[in-house]
Amino acid sequence: MNSNDEKLCYINGKFLSLKDANINIQTHALQYGTACFGGIRAYWNEDKKNLFIFRLKDHYQRLQNSAKILQMKMPCSYEEFAEITIKILKEGNWKQNTYIRPFLYKSDLELSPRLHNVNDSLAVYAIPLNDYLDTQKGLNTCISSWIRISDNQIPTRAKATGGYINSALAKSEALQNNYDEAIFLDNQGFISEGSASNIFIVKDECLITPDLASSILVGITRRTVLRLAEEMDIKVIERRVGRTELYTADESFFAGTGVQIAWIRSVDNRVIGSGSIGAITKTLQEKYFEIVKGNNNKYDSWLTKVY
Ligand code: PMP
Repeated sequence: MNSNDEKLCYINGKFLSLKDANINIQTHALQYGTACFGGIRAYWNEDKKNLFIFRLKDHYQRLQNSAKILQMKMPCSYEEFAEITIKILKEGNWKQNTYIRPFLYKSDLELSPRLHNVNDSLAVYAIPLNDYLDTQKGLNTCISSWIRISDNQIPTRAKATGGYINSALAKSEALQNNYDEAIFLDNQGFISEGSASNIFIVKDECLITPDLASSILVGITRRTVLRLAEEMDIKVIERRVGRTELYTADESFFAGTGVQIAWIRSVDNRVIGSGSIGAITKTLQEKYFEIVKGNNNKYDSWLTKVY
């Protein structure tokens, strides 16, 4: 039992309490990792007494793209998906920071690791979530000995369940060696991303991040950061990034829905910049939190209100 057991979730067309939403052990997705998922945050704003879901439509569209790669089909329109998500949050009476996990999984009981002619189902549930990584203290990181999976192996563009074995290997290695997080290189040896977030560096006041061909997930927070930086007249570049460019950067941070914006203190025991949060990172982090919490009207179109 956990405290979410009675909360409402959605599975294959039905709303159930989480404790009743179970699957058969023969399920294809469980055996082969043939599922794709989203990770969405909703922030509780105590002053406004509302829960704001961040960029829900963009998350839906990414799930649709993941589904296409895995030969699946989203069973509902964006409007229906938004209705399902809001119902789960509203009827669950969620009034705290929440993480929403939609996933589309191969639900047939099939003994063959293929993609076609296997039926899939959609499920959505929510859990409480505050910081996933510390956003204030500065993270000590390492370059992983595990290489990021590439587009012709397990495409990172598809947020595929099975691909997260790669993340788990890197994350455990980092934690077991007393680092806070891992950074992947791609199969060409360039910086790719974290185990569950995209990465940015700042060099000479310019914001740089690995491009979409660097075996990264097309992050929605990444896109948000790029847009905010442009609006602040910070120069942004998407390109390949070398390992030692990261060592010698002025600032560096991770960006992701779970991770939010979390600054990096060191990489492979080299302190980044001054060893404290950099000015550009701090500005972007403050702006990001203001927006996601519903305290900046300019970005209202990115927010979906639950209540
Ligand atoms: N890369 C990976 C591997 C991730 O798991 C995530 C988290 N979804 C991200 C990047 C960041 O993506 P987003 O900003 O859309 O959450």
